[in-house]
Amino acid sequence: MSENSPNDSAEEKIPTPAIYKCCENPQITYLAPVNINVEERTIGSVDVWRCASCKKSFCEEKQLGIDSITDIVGMPRIEDDEKWGVVVSKLQKGKDKWKLVKLKETGILKFETADEQVIDLKIDNYSIVDDFHTSFLVLDHIHKAVEI
Ligand SMILES: [Zn+2]
Repeated sequence: MSENSPNDSAEEKIPTPAIYKCCENPQITYLAPVNINVEERTIGSVDVWRCASCKKSFCEEKQLGIDSITDIVGMPRIEDDEKWGVVVSKLQKGKDKWKLVKLKETGILKFETADEQVIDLKIDNYSIVDDFHTSFLVLDHIHKAVEI
C-alpha cells in the first residue's frame, strides 16, 4: 500500500474526518471496528471513533467491497439520549440484513428497509422489539465480531 513512502518511521494515522466536530476541543481517535459476520464470514463492519475530550463516540458503517460512505457520515452527531446500534433484519440477506442506526431508550424508530419502505420499529431499553428485526448496541461489541 505504501511502497513509495520514504518516511515509514512516521506512525500511520487515519485522518480524522472534519465533520466530526463534537465539542470545543475535539480529540477524536479511531477506537476499534465491530465486524458484522454472516455464517462466520465478515460482510461489513462498523468503525468506532471516540473523542477524548467529550467522550462521544462516532460510528461509520462499512459494507465490505463498497468504498462509498453511507449517509450516516453526513450526520454523525448523536444526541446524549441516543446510542449507536445495528438493526438486523430477519427478512433480508447479505448487506441488506443490517444497518447502523441511532437508538433512543424507548420510542419508535423510523426505519428504512432495503426496499425503501419506512416502517415503525418499537424501541425498548435501546433495543428493537419486533417480530422481524433485532438489534444490538455497537459499543457493547468493540473489537468483536457479531454474527447476524
Ligand atoms: Zn468531543
